[in-house]
Amino acid sequence: MKKIIAVDGPAGAGKSTVSKICAARLGYTYIDTGAMYRAVALKCLLSGKSVDENLIGDIDIRLDNSARVFLDGREVTKEIRTPEVSRAASDVAKFGFVRKKLTELQREMAAQGSVIMDGRDIGTQVLPNADLKIFLTATVEERARRRFAELKSKGLAADLAQIEKEITLRDKQDSEREIAPLAQAVDAILLDSTHLTIEQVVAEILRLAGV
Ligand code: C5P
Repeated sequence: MKKIIAVDGPAGAGKSTVSKICAARLGYTYIDTGAMYRAVALKCLLSGKSVDENLIGDIDIRLDNSARVFLDGREVTKEIRTPEVSRAASDVAKFGFVRKKLTELQREMAAQGSVIMDGRDIGTQVLPNADLKIFLTATVEERARRRFAELKSKGLAADLAQIEKEITLRDKQDSEREIAPLAQAVDAILLDSTHLTIEQVVAEILRLAGV
């Protein structure tokens, strides 16, 4: 039987890290919906235009099994991870026509088989009938610290205070937008990962999934 797991939560809570591991252990497809909003944002930045129905109409976004992201046939996996694209993604995500288009694509992807999908509105809007809904969170300080450590480990420049500021701003924008804001679904299970390791969060999700 097809099984659907929805994982929502604020930026940097570890959704994609744990969802990827859970998907591999369960043999499910992992779908990173944030990457799709990032791809739309990148398309706007590259074209120098603001988002409109034209730009989004024939957009081709593909995610493969190795979590690689393709925009209009070109791999953009790394390009969509810059702070500039993060900000722009949160900006384009406010528009109803963008959300409608990506929600349709996400539902089509989920119809293919068993999936674990992460984002902001998966349990509330995209897949309200998911078999399991997780709302994964952590304090903003901890989320900023993790992002900082990740950038440092890649040898990239990082400023902890700046990261915390950007995460706080993006959370506010994502939670306060009118359409499909970041919110915990009433039937979602809250998982605070502030004091948990990645493996502990994975184990808890797998336990809740009945594995
Ligand atoms: O998850 P990630 O940080 O990559 O998402 C980038 C941005 O895309 C978020 O800040 C949010 O504005 C938007 N997003 C969304 N709905 C989703 C996934 C992401 O609005 N389901």
